[in-house]
Order: sequence, then C-alpha cells, then structure tokens
Amino acid sequence: ADGNLFTALRGAFPADLDACAIEVADGPDTGKRYSWRDLDRATAMIANLLDSLDLPAGSRIAAQTEKSVEALLLYLAVLRAGHVYLPLNTAYQAAELDYFIGNAEPAVVVCAGKHFGWVSKLAFQAKVPWVFTLNEDRTGTLLDRAVQMSDQHTPARRAAEDLAAILYTSGTTGRSKGAMLSHGNLLSNAQVLKDVWGWQPDDVLIHALPIFHVHGLFVASHGALLAGARMIWFSKFEPRGVIARLPQATVFMGVPTLYVRLLEQATLTRETCARMRLFISGSAPLLIETFQDWQHRTGHTILERYGMSETVMLTSNPYRSEDGERVGGTVGLPLPGVGLRVVDDAGQPCPADEIGHLQVRGPNVFGGYWRMPEKTREEFTADGWFKTGDVGRRDGRGYVTIVGRSKDLIISGGFNVYPAEIEGWLNELPGVAESAVVGVPHPDFGEGVIAVVVPRPGASLEGPALIAALKDRIANFKVPKQVFIESELPRNAMGKVQKNLLRERHRQLFG
Ligand code: ATP
Ligand code: MG
Repeated sequence: ADGNLFTALRGAFPADLDACAIEVADGPDTGKRYSWRDLDRATAMIANLLDSLDLPAGSRIAAQTEKSVEALLLYLAVLRAGHVYLPLNTAYQAAELDYFIGNAEPAVVVCAGKHFGWVSKLAFQAKVPWVFTLNEDRTGTLLDRAVQMSDQHTPARRAAEDLAAILYTSGTTGRSKGAMLSHGNLLSNAQVLKDVWGWQPDDVLIHALPIFHVHGLFVASHGALLAGARMIWFSKFEPRGVIARLPQATVFMGVPTLYVRLLEQATLTRETCARMRLFISGSAPLLIETFQDWQHRTGHTILERYGMSETVMLTSNPYRSEDGERVGGTVGLPLPGVGLRVVDDAGQPCPADEIGHLQVRGPNVFGGYWRMPEKTREEFTADGWFKTGDVGRRDGRGYVTIVGRSKDLIISGGFNVYPAEIEGWLNELPGVAESAVVGVPHPDFGEGVIAVVVPRPGASLEGPALIAALKDRIANFKVPKQVFIESELPRNAMGKVQKNLLRERHRQLFG
C-alpha cells in the first residue's frame, strides 16, 4: 500500500471541497480563505513544478521562508512529489544557513525574496541547482512558475520507511542535528494524536506557531488536516489577535511562553474561551504557576505533552477524564505504541519515582541523524532504544516528569543536582519570575551550582537573600553558590533557555 503521508492527509479532506480549510487571521491577507480544493490544486501545481525539475529520488527541498499558507502548501507539495522537506528557522543567519545547506545538500532552496542575494550566493557555492523565492504576499518565483503548471497531480508512491522530512533540532545543547523522519514516523504519530486528543471535523485550530519545527509543522498542521478541520492561521503570534479569535476556535497549541503572554491580557476570560475544547502546551517545561493561573482564569486545564524532533510526540497528559487527570508539572503518559523506560547510568531500569535517563522506541522514532552515522549509533542502545537525552522519572501511575537534560545535570561534590528541582524552589520565592540553574567548573566540587534569576516587574532581588531562603528549604549541596539577577534568560528561536550560553558566561567564576 502507498505510505505517502500526503496521500493520507489528502484522503482526510472533507467531501465538501469548497468548505474553508484555512482562514488567514493577520497580515495583508487577513480574511482570505483557502478551500480544501485550493489546497489540493495549489499543492498539485507546486508538485508538478518539482516534477518538472527532474530531481533525483530523495532530493531535499530546503525552505527558509516567512510563515504563510503558501509555505505550508510547499511542504505538502514536497510530500506529494515524494521529495524530502527541510524547513529552516527564519532566524538563521548566513553562517548557520551555510552549515545547513552544506550539510543537507538540498536540490532546491526556497527563500524570501529579500534574502535572495546572500542565500543564492551560499546556494551557488554549495552547488544547489535551484533557488526559488517565496514571499509573504504570495509573490516570488516559486509561485510564478507553479501557476503555469497543471492543477492535477498523482501523488508519488512512497513506502512508510521512505524519508519525508529532515528536521534540524533546535540546537539547545549544541550544534543542530538533522533528524531523518519517514512518512511512517509522521503518519503514525498523527493518527495516534488524532485519536487521543479527540480531533473532529468541526474542530477549529488556532495555528499561531512557526512552521519550521515539529510543534507547528507536524503536531498542529497534521492534527487539523487529518481531521479535515479548519485552521485560523496567524503568521505571527500576537496575544490580542489570538484572544480575539478564541471565541470561534476549539483547539490551541502553544509553547509555554505563549501562555504566559496570553495571561498578561485582561481580555483572556472564561467567556472568550467558552467554545474552546483543548489547550495544548509543549516544547519546553510549562511552569506549574502558569498551569494554575490558566485554570483559574479560563476554567480550562492545559494539556502538556512531550516530544522532540527525533521522535515527534512521545507522551501526553490524558485528554478524556476517564483516562485520568491532567497533572501539572508532568508530561503525562506514553502515547499508545510508544515504549518509554527510565534507566540509570548503567542502563538498568529504575524503579518508579526514581530519576534516570529517558529512552524510547516506537513507530514514531526517527531512523537516524542525517550524515552522522557515528552520532546515530551513540544515541541508540544495543537493544534499539533511542536515548532522548532527557532526564526524568515515572510515578506509579505511569506519569512522566522531565527534570532536565542529561547534559544539564550537575554533579557537585559527587552529588547529583537536578536543575529543574532547584529552579522550582527558586520560582516559588517572592519576586522571582523565572530562573535557570547550571553547573560551572569548580576546583573543589567538580561543578559548582549557580543560578540566574529574573525578577518579576517591580521586584528588587538580591542574590544572598535568595541563597539564604533556599538554605532553609533544601540540602546545602543543592543550594546555588552564587545567584545572578538578570533581566532575562538567553533563549533560542524556539523559546528554550540556552544553558550552554549561561555556562559559558560564568565558566571562570570559580576558576
Ligand atoms: P538539541 O537537540 O539540538 O540540543 P532540542 O533538544 O531543544 O535541541 P528539539 O528537538 O526542538 O531540540 O526539542 C526537544 C526537547 O525539548 C526535548 O528533548 C525536551 O528536552 C524538550 N521538551 C519538549 N517538550 C517538553 C515538555 N513538555 N517539558 C519539558 N521539556 C520539553
Ligand atoms: Mg535534543
């Protein structure tokens, strides 16, 4: 049978192809509606354009474009034509793009017209045969060429194991790696999520996430498409704009910072959320405080889930109450079909509630890192489990709690210190908005625990007072030896705290 993800998504289009599939909610095109027929015809035209280039099998099509419906259509068209989609963060600059293009060797690069000069130069040096442009206002050479193509196209047949996309990881812990995801990885995960999150054709998704990452490109878009449900499409997240559309929507997905920013708006109320069915959070830890504030303000309990570029989604808090409660601070239970185990440094299983390394397997787990066979071998165990690089524990009911990354784990004086635990204690202190705890080289202890704390607006904090407050609460070896008060934490384009930068900044502290 054909395993092409596009064919499955196309098969889920509703019978009424003239119904609205995507409604644009911001920018110059506000109010523009794309029907399901539009999606079908436009992806056919772009796929025909790709076919006309006579690309070798397995060609990568790299896209660094602003978020637009057409950028999503390009992704779908790449699947349809049977090529490999490679989305790139719009924030990446020349040196970064040079690495990705050099590493991935795409056959086609699609970029914004305003970046054509430097991108085409890089592409030329890397011998990329084709460079097209695609702009937010639907101008550019990609669509100029595509509109001359037929709007009929038979999707390429693909096996489930065939490569569908390469997603570069966020680069939180080091250089980004290209995760090779197959049609089967993506489709099986989308089908599981459709079921466990109860997607229905009458759902309306507010899509306000970037589409160069798992969360916005796969979890959000596949969810709506596979349900034949409508999307309200924001090219940029803007809290007031999103709140204005909540009354017409049923599903929203966001990273934790989006929830924090929505909560800052007085217009976020129970009434605005009355029709909403589901709020989902992921990509980074959701503070328990945000989880509770959201409950109080809207009456809705955010469903937190956990996943990564290499595996798509792994765990989710329950959607239906009969399957259990949504427990704040946890990422819920492994999804159906996903195996998850917690092991110690020696690879032996940990008992319930004990902290260890998270390892996973399942039809969603990627085939390896693009052109990094060594790294791929390192990250799989002999018995075929993928080492997520995350540290966590599982309680007696099976709920998983992430306590940090293996690379962020601190060993001070021979004791393990879990940054997330200390951050939790710090965040509870009055006047603390957020915090990050890292280890830096220390002559006596190996690593010394330090913290960077961001005060709430108007609060004035002092490091020594915070340290004294922690000493009353936790064991001395866990207490940061120094606390720096700073106005913000360094975050990458996905809103994740870059602890490597903090470690770098304070590396000499004790040395
Ligand atoms: P890199 O692998 O390049 O260092 P990255 O791991 O941040 O970057 P992604 O694949 O985008 O790249 O992110 C996956 C990671 O995000 C997970 O391994 C996990 O650490 C974190 N994450 C995702 N969802 C959650 C969540 N709900 N709670 C806590 N952490 C999460
Ligand atoms: Mg990672």
